[in-house]
Amino acid sequence: MCGIVGYIGTQEAQSILINGLQRLEYRGYDSAGVAIIGDDGLQIKKTKGKVHDLESTIEGAPLQGSVGIGHTRWATHGPPNDVNAHPHDSTGSTFALVHNGIIENYNAIRKKLAEKGYTFQSDTDTEVLVRLIEDVRRATDLPLEEAVRQALTQVVGTYGIAVVSEEDPDLLIAARKGSPLILGIGDGEYFIGSDAAPLVEHTRQVVYLSDGEMVTVRRSGYTVRTIDNVELEKEVHELEWDLSEIQKGGYDHFMLKEIMEQPTALEDCMRGRVLPDQQQITLGGLHQVIDDLRDADRIIIAACGTSWHSGLVGEYLIESMARIPVEVEYASEFRYRNPVLRKGDVVLVISQSGETADTLAAVREARRRGIPCIGICNVVGSTIARETDAGVYLHAGPEIGVASTKAFTAQVTVLTMLALKLAEGRTLSTAEMAHNLQALAAVPDKVREVLAMDEEIEDMANVYRYAANFLYLGRGYNFPVALEGALKLKEISYIHAEGYPAAEMKHGPIALIDRFMPVVFIAMKDSTYDKVVSNIEEVAARDGSVIAITDEGNGELDDLCEYVLRIPKTEEFLTPLLTAIPLQLLSYHIAVMRGCHVDQPRNLAKSVTVE
Ligand code: GLU
Repeated sequence: MCGIVGYIGTQEAQSILINGLQRLEYRGYDSAGVAIIGDDGLQIKKTKGKVHDLESTIEGAPLQGSVGIGHTRWATHGPPNDVNAHPHDSTGSTFALVHNGIIENYNAIRKKLAEKGYTFQSDTDTEVLVRLIEDVRRATDLPLEEAVRQALTQVVGTYGIAVVSEEDPDLLIAARKGSPLILGIGDGEYFIGSDAAPLVEHTRQVVYLSDGEMVTVRRSGYTVRTIDNVELEKEVHELEWDLSEIQKGGYDHFMLKEIMEQPTALEDCMRGRVLPDQQQITLGGLHQVIDDLRDADRIIIAACGTSWHSGLVGEYLIESMARIPVEVEYASEFRYRNPVLRKGDVVLVISQSGETADTLAAVREARRRGIPCIGICNVVGSTIARETDAGVYLHAGPEIGVASTKAFTAQVTVLTMLALKLAEGRTLSTAEMAHNLQALAAVPDKVREVLAMDEEIEDMANVYRYAANFLYLGRGYNFPVALEGALKLKEISYIHAEGYPAAEMKHGPIALIDRFMPVVFIAMKDSTYDKVVSNIEEVAARDGSVIAITDEGNGELDDLCEYVLRIPKTEEFLTPLLTAIPLQLLSYHIAVMRGCHVDQPRNLAKSVTVE
């Protein structure tokens, strides 16, 4: 959440910053702003709204200068208005700062500073940090970078910050704790970004800042030190992303592009890992820990949102295939409820961005208590990827759409590979393994077949676009898919939707059913099919309008349902990889028809880096 960019070099900063903010806009779009140091000193432009609103305010009067910072906000403290927009500047406007995160002790600091006579323009926690830096400087007359460092030792909470000052136009400062920041290294120029998206078109050489580190950048070079003032040698990494991967490539929305990319995303995810001919799964990132994992007494999966849903599929997969007990936790609860963790437990966390604050907190809690931690992330080099003992990358390519799609199916693919790996040579025979691997390798082509039904799903969306509520029901492996289908609809079309295990319906939600309530059943011909059909009967008997997703060739549901969508058959444990897709497309088309902003749904943002 919140996108930060920074630039120092020889080019005009404005277009680099604006372009970078556009690439980061999926992280927040409540307001946008830039601060640039030019011949006339510090210039700030900021506005409520999106980056194109910022562009309109700048139009005709470009900010000149070759060092600057920019921000796109996801408000935590104070409403999204012009005043609360970042950058925030010092009294007298000599330096400006952008911030991602939450200064938890801002109230206490604000009170103390107000007593000293400081005044505050905004409602943000961020402005308190700006005044605190001023206060440190006033008391000590230190150089700005040192004042920033000392101020940061006094704040509690999370931050990714970038600072520029008109007193030193050859200076860009950035620091992080809890919120991601990357330094991009160019030729005589440097870039700062919350993630790689604003950097890829300028450079592939990056330094990942770790928590508690700050970088002082000048055109001649950079120095990284800890907030405790220890100088560090940081490794320079090569970025893997391509520019084309973070562009829409002809699609109207990133979400649709990412839905359509799923066959290749899953192929990339399985490449070199699923080897049906050798009856083998290779997960290089788990090589060192796989035996401990197999011998684990319990695996605890911690995640949030869509990743939590993939974790639930993981629970079904690992328990049924590898016979290892699994518990799935909301990462946000895990940390604060003093969970019982014992020797023999392994924590497995799932996060697309690898920066999700709640999930990262779960990692730290587990590690603090000596429990091994494994990560499943998409973003290479992300904080969770770095802080876990071992892990598996999705290799699904960048996911920009706020509503997660290809990351969900890639996470389920990784969990499927993991379950098979844990079962290898233990609970699954070689023949079963070979059969399962072949079925898994065949999934991307089946996903292509489901995606080819897009028009049919769009017609369906047209019928249900005005519904005020939706119910999604599934059993077994498809219960989490029902939850995910409901979440997708809520997120991007703002229609109230609930997901339930189909049999739970009769314990409450059935009271909601009338002819205005579309009920989406996932009714694949698997071990729970007959029971699901009974549940469909129960809804039909109460006039509910049923949409069913079932296997190709199944005509048994036609009389009971308003719509039946037939998708390719696969093994029961692989069905979530196919059933999730029509639900993604249904939400997408309904949201487009309702005029919703699909890639930037209200109140949401991607990469939730605040608790
Ligand atoms: N707390 C800051 C604000 O509300 C930054 C928010 C964020 O990082 O999402 O402006």
